[in-house]
Amino acid sequence: MSDYDVIIVGGGISGLLSALTLSKHGKKVLVLEKDDAVGGNCNSYTVDGFQVDTGPHAITHLREGPLRRLMDEYFTYMPFFVDYGHYYVRTEKGLTKIPSNIKDFVTFDVLPGKDRLMLSQALTKALTQMTFGMLDGDQPVYDYIPKGLSGDTYDFVNAIAYFLSGKSMKDTSVNRVLYGSSFVRDSVSEDIFENVEEASGTSYASMISDKLSKYQLKGHLSSLGRLATNKVSYAQAYPRGGLRSLLKAVLYSMPETVQIKTSSRVNKILTDGEKAVGVTTDSDSYSSDTIVYTGFVKNLPLLVELPPDYIKKLSTIDQTLSLTLWLGLKEKMKEFDYTGSEVWFKGGAYWAMPISNYDASIAPKGKQLVGFTFVIDDKNNIESEKKKALDLIFRAVPGIENKIEMTHYQVTIPEKAAVTINGYFAGTRSPVRNLYLAGTDTDSRSMGVTRAAYSVLELLKAMKEDKIL
Ligand SMILES: Cc1cc2nc3c(=O)[nH]c(=O)nc-3n(C[C@H](O)[C@H](O)[C@H](O)COP(=O)(O)OP(=O)(O)OC[C@H]3O[C@@H](n4cnc5c(N)ncnc54)[C@H](O)[C@@H]3O)c2cc1C
Repeated sequence: MSDYDVIIVGGGISGLLSALTLSKHGKKVLVLEKDDAVGGNCNSYTVDGFQVDTGPHAITHLREGPLRRLMDEYFTYMPFFVDYGHYYVRTEKGLTKIPSNIKDFVTFDVLPGKDRLMLSQALTKALTQMTFGMLDGDQPVYDYIPKGLSGDTYDFVNAIAYFLSGKSMKDTSVNRVLYGSSFVRDSVSEDIFENVEEASGTSYASMISDKLSKYQLKGHLSSLGRLATNKVSYAQAYPRGGLRSLLKAVLYSMPETVQIKTSSRVNKILTDGEKAVGVTTDSDSYSSDTIVYTGFVKNLPLLVELPPDYIKKLSTIDQTLSLTLWLGLKEKMKEFDYTGSEVWFKGGAYWAMPISNYDASIAPKGKQLVGFTFVIDDKNNIESEKKKALDLIFRAVPGIENKIEMTHYQVTIPEKAAVTINGYFAGTRSPVRNLYLAGTDTDSRSMGVTRAAYSVLELLKAMKEDKIL
C-alpha cells in the first residue's frame, strides 16, 4: 500500500490548486516544494516596509474563466479582487489609454494617423477571416501587419507582443494577439453544457458538439462585434492584500489532510515497469499511486527516464526571462495616479503597475510602490540589464530618481513556456503511466495564473478519464 494517493511535485499555484482540488475529491495528498516557502511565482514579501509581489500581476478571465470555476467549486475562502482599471501607454506627453477597439484607435494619437488606419484595417481583416475560418492564426504578427509603418508603430506593436507572449512580434502569432487582447475570449462558459438533455434519436455527444460549434461561431461573431466595444481589461483584477492573498485563499481552503513539506527537492521519480510509484528527495522517499509534476517540464528528463523523442520535444519549449524592478517611492507621484498598468515602448519597453493604488497598506503610509517589468536577454549580463532598465525608467518618468526610497530587483522566468509560434507545450499526460503534468508549460491558453488554472482543470479531466478520480 502506498503512503499517498497523490504526490505533487512543486508548491507553486499549479501544485497547490492541484492539491486543493484532488484532496477535495477524497485523495490523500502530499506536496513537496524545494524552496523554503510555497507559492513559487505567486507570492508577496516585504522589502524595507514595502510589500512586493513576485512580479506585477493582473489576474485575468475572472468572470467565467478557469480560476473562477476552481474558486466557485473548491475554494472555502475567497480572495477579494479589486477591478483592474485600464492599460495605458506612456510617452513624453503623458498617459494615453491603450486602444481596446476600433473607436479608441481613431483617437490614439500616440501613433501617426496613417498607421492607425492601416493597423485597424489589419485587425478588422484578421477578425473577419477568423469568423469565417480563413485565418492562419499561427503566422507571425510581423508578417501580418502592413509594411511601411513608422518606427514608433513597429516599436509599439513589438512592445505589445512582448507583453502578450514574452517574445518579439516575429515570434508572436496573430492568434496570441487576438486572444490576449480579449477580442477573442478563450474561456468557454459553463452554460454551453446547461440544458443539454438527451432527446430521442440524438446522441449526447453530438448535441454537445453541435452546441460547441454554434458557440464557436457565436463566439467568433461576438469577437467581430468587439471591434466596437472591446475592453482589453475585461474581467481582470488585482487581489486586495497583494498577490499573496490569492495564495492564502488557496492555503486556507486546503483540507487539513493535505501534507505540505517545504525545503524538499524531488530529485528522482521512481518507477516500476512503466508506472510511476513514488519520489525521492535528498533525505526521504515516498510512495504514491499517482504523481503530479508541476516543476519545469523541461527538467523532467533529469528526474525520470523518458523516451528520446519526447525529450527532444521538451527541448523545444521556449522561455522568456524577465527583470522586475520594484521602486518604493517616498511620496505618491502624480504620474502614477491611476489603477491599471502602463507600457513604455520607445527605445526599450517596460510594463509597469503602481500596485499600492489598489491597496494603500502595501506601501508605508503616504508612499507608493510601483513594479516595472522588462523582458531581458538571458545571454546578456544581468547587472548591465538592471542598469539599462533603471536608465529607461528615469527617461520615461522624469523626476522619479529623486523620489526613490527602495529599489528591489527580481529576475524570473514568468511562465514555464512562452506562447511562441514554434514553442512546445507538454499537455497533461507524460509518457510514464500515472505521472501527470500541470503548470504553465502544459497548456497554452491565456497566461500566468489563468493558464495554471486551465492546466489544473485539464489534469482533473485526464484523471477522470483514466478512472483515477
Ligand atoms: C514578472 C512577472 C509577471 C507576471 N505577470 C502575471 C500576470 O499579470 N498575470 C498572471 O496571471 N500571471 C503573471 N505571472 C505568471 C504567474 O505568476 C505564473 O505563471 C504562475 O505563478 C506559475 O505557477 P506554477 O505553479 O505553474 O509555476 P511556479 O510558480 O514556477 O511553481 C513551480 C514550483 O515548483 C517548485 N519545484 C520545481 N521543481 C521542483 C522539484 N524538483 N522538487 C520540488 N519542488 C520543485 C518550484 O520551486 C516552484 O515553487 C507573472 C510572473 C512574473 C515573474
